[in-house]
Amino acid sequence: MKYISTRGQSPAQTFSQILLGGLAPDGGLYLPETYPQLSDADLTAMRNMSYADLAFAILSRFVDDIPAPDLKAIIDKTYRPDVYAYTRPSQQASDITPTLKLEDDLYLLSLSNGPTLAFKDMAMQLLGNLFEYVLSREGKTTNILGATSGDTGSAAEYAMRGKKGIRVFMLSPHKKMSRFQAAQMFSLQDDNIYNIAVNGVFDDCQDVVKAVSNDAVFKAQHKIGAVNSINWGRIVAQVVYYFKGYFAVTDNNAQKVSFAVPSGNFGNVCAGHIARMMGLPINQLVVATNENDVLDEFFKTGIYRPRGAANTYHTSSPSMDISKASNFERFVFDLVGRDGDKTRELWGAVDSGASFDLNADGFFNKISHYGFVSGSSNHAQRMQTIREAASRYDVVVDTHTADGLKVALEHKIAGVPMLVLETALPAKFEDAIIEALGTAPERPVALNGIEALPQKFSVMDADVEAIKAYIVANT
Ligand SMILES: *Cc1c(COP(=O)(O)O)cnc(C)c1O
Repeated sequence: MKYISTRGQSPAQTFSQILLGGLAPDGGLYLPETYPQLSDADLTAMRNMSYADLAFAILSRFVDDIPAPDLKAIIDKTYRPDVYAYTRPSQQASDITPTLKLEDDLYLLSLSNGPTLAFKDMAMQLLGNLFEYVLSREGKTTNILGATSGDTGSAAEYAMRGKKGIRVFMLSPHKKMSRFQAAQMFSLQDDNIYNIAVNGVFDDCQDVVKAVSNDAVFKAQHKIGAVNSINWGRIVAQVVYYFKGYFAVTDNNAQKVSFAVPSGNFGNVCAGHIARMMGLPINQLVVATNENDVLDEFFKTGIYRPRGAANTYHTSSPSMDISKASNFERFVFDLVGRDGDKTRELWGAVDSGASFDLNADGFFNKISHYGFVSGSSNHAQRMQTIREAASRYDVVVDTHTADGLKVALEHKIAGVPMLVLETALPAKFEDAIIEALGTAPERPVALNGIEALPQKFSVMDADVEAIKAYIVANT
């Protein structure tokens, strides 16, 4: 299995070659040359597998440069019940991504039972173990540099902590994360984790990361790496739970299901698209956005109109506050018939701040073949959905999952199970839950009092040279 760029001008690469990188040299994103196809017999064989066995059955079709027994060991080490332990009372941790029935044909697919209580742990934990394996095999090391407003940074740190050959330098806006999020990251005492609290906002952190990454000499000399949302390893790891969710609510392969996905950078729902392209019987992929509705607008009109950072709203589902969906190019490449020249032309416009319209070429007419529908939610609707879920189903959902549930209910068809992806546990967004329900959400026992633990972090200005010097001094 080789990987090609969506912009058609980079040489094909193997899985291990693209694992540690980001964009392809031509500025595109990597995708497999073809999607592995699963037969009815393949699906039947997968139906009763454990999560780890299912992950191996799927990932081994995408990875051909890690020996099968090694890949199996990496997967078994990752998807363990004690790592994804924070289940709801009626759920089994051994399911790794258990479902929860809300009403007929409506389920939650719980993806947030890992160490940082957000679905990003599903892929990031695997990435940590894959990085360590590939780096050690090649006798290399890496210094991961990132910027976070909360979820990504903590998922990356919990995945990379204590890993040989890996250091993490994570920039976050000083005093701008919730106390819980800051405590999650800053209470890590591992020698290879460096938290840098930057005087400024998230965009200042992001700008420093971009400036350092754009310094090709520094980047090569100090082995600067990234784990951002365009990483192929993260996308492919997320394909697995669409299969797991499908098997949990069906009993034969003639049945179809739909998934509602709280979306920001289009990484999560892109994995659903890939599962569908492999032959998983998916009826609808429901893209749910918040007030930042660039994706909802596209799926309704065929016009993709990214907004600038200045036009991004700060909402109560903050992990979906994006102005440009960084993985969206992967789907559009498929939609335009895998035409790299066309994709390059479209993103040439996007990269220079313009929009594009897929109606004229007839591409948008094909959208229904891919099962996508969409909707958006605002703060009042989010609060209302949290209250309704509590009263109707006796379940507390977080603000992001509430966006998914709100839009799912708009598209639900009788007789077709709808799975709403639970992308974070409510404990992670305590203030919003108190606003909606008047009481704090339950917190996993192991995380009680996390705010009182000793914290390790350095406060710095958003000064590129100073942060480079900090990295040099600590490597
Ligand atoms: C990252 C995140 C999302 C958005 O996922 P994408 O893959 O960027 O679309 C949604 N909800 C939560 C809680 C997240 O952390």
